[in-house]
Amino acid sequence: MKISVIGSGYVGSVTAACFAEAGHEIVCVDIDEKKVEQINAGIPPIYEEGLGDLLRKYAGKKLIATIDYEFAVRETDISFICVGTPSAEDGSIDLSIVRAAATNIGEALAKKKGYHVVVVKSTVVPETTEKFVLPVLEEASGKTAGKDFGVAMNPEFLREGKAVHDFMHPDKIVIGAIDRKSGDLISELYRKFECEVTRTNPATAEMIKYANNSLLATKISFANEIGNICKKLGIDTYEVMAAVGKDFRISPRFLNSGAGFGGSCFPKDVKALIGKAKAIGYSPILLESVIAVNEKQPLLMTEILIRKIGNLAGKKIAVLGLAFKNETDDIRESRAIPVIAELLRLGAKISAYDPMAIENMKRVFPTIEYYGKAEDALKGADACLVMTEWDEFRQLESEFENMKEKIVIDGRRVIEAKNIDYEGLCW
Ligand code: NAD
Repeated sequence: MKISVIGSGYVGSVTAACFAEAGHEIVCVDIDEKKVEQINAGIPPIYEEGLGDLLRKYAGKKLIATIDYEFAVRETDISFICVGTPSAEDGSIDLSIVRAAATNIGEALAKKKGYHVVVVKSTVVPETTEKFVLPVLEEASGKTAGKDFGVAMNPEFLREGKAVHDFMHPDKIVIGAIDRKSGDLISELYRKFECEVTRTNPATAEMIKYANNSLLATKISFANEIGNICKKLGIDTYEVMAAVGKDFRISPRFLNSGAGFGGSCFPKDVKALIGKAKAIGYSPILLESVIAVNEKQPLLMTEILIRKIGNLAGKKIAVLGLAFKNETDDIRESRAIPVIAELLRLGAKISAYDPMAIENMKRVFPTIEYYGKAEDALKGADACLVMTEWDEFRQLESEFENMKEKIVIDGRRVIEAKNIDYEGLCW
């Protein structure tokens, strides 16, 4: 089938490349001309394992990129909206980019003969597809949804860093369509994927995505709360959670306590669900606590640091790990950001290292020192904070030798070195 994918970020570029691998023809659309050029040259606009191989295989053949909506809609049968849905100032969802994309698709639909289905893949709060996107499409196209074109919601559950694998081997595929015809067409797209398809209405599909992410975020904040209590009692929370996770009703995943969750999804999605709940007159006490624990957690790192070395003014602090998690260059909502901001506020000098995320973090903190190796960031440091669970940090040993004081505070339980003054965040 012929598919246009609107937005070529983490979700859009992976969706496009993976649908090409599944045998479809793809037109990517982005307003960022640099990304369009990169995709056409087979260069991934973001780092994702396996994405480069797929783009090199299909770019210029079964997969092309453009800034031209009219061409993309005319030449394809289905358009996937994969643009960002950031948090507004009050935490609720900002739909301005979705509106812009839907308006452009609608204007292109006005000129297109024949049936077309518009699918929202961006994460949007329940009711958005039917009550917001659908009317925008109808107004811009002058056509009627359900008659002239179809509308559906198909949430994405991929993990950054493993996105290509997760897209190709999904745990679940959820299709929430306004009518059978739209739903059938999208199901056909996923025919080659070995996974049961859950068919729902659009609002249910939207809620499945939020419930999914909110539950994962809740597990992390729960593990962090237990970890904080364990630390005060001198109990190893990892031993506790390893046993708790053996209960088949719980599972061992997402029970690692540490500096909290970041990324482009969990914080934003939990806040958006809180905003939606409040807008309909419900006070979501549990979800608000999930966010409150998560915001407090990284600052416990600096509290430990001050307890250990006192006044931070003029002290050199090495920060290892800037990405919000390992295997990605994404720093959105990384827990390293509030920690670095707090260190700077307290007058510390920062020497930072990350295997992939330095260029992205330079946009947030242009003036701190960045190094290409952990060893160099650690040289002469008064202390080190570990913010991301990069595997290579497990091997660090002699690199700590050249610190001024070998104080290491680990926010991710990755450091295995001996002969250092080590303290874990919750252990
Ligand atoms: P992103 O910011 O990486 O990518 C968005 C892309 O859209 C950018 O390339 C941007 O240039 C482009 N864009 C902006 N305005 C446009 C317009 N008017 N027309 C065409 N392109 C436009 O975002 P992302 O991380 O890929 O997330 C996209 C959506 O998917 C969000 O709703 C997010 O919550 C959801 N989601 C993300 C993940 C994830 O792991 N990143 C996982 C599941 C769902």
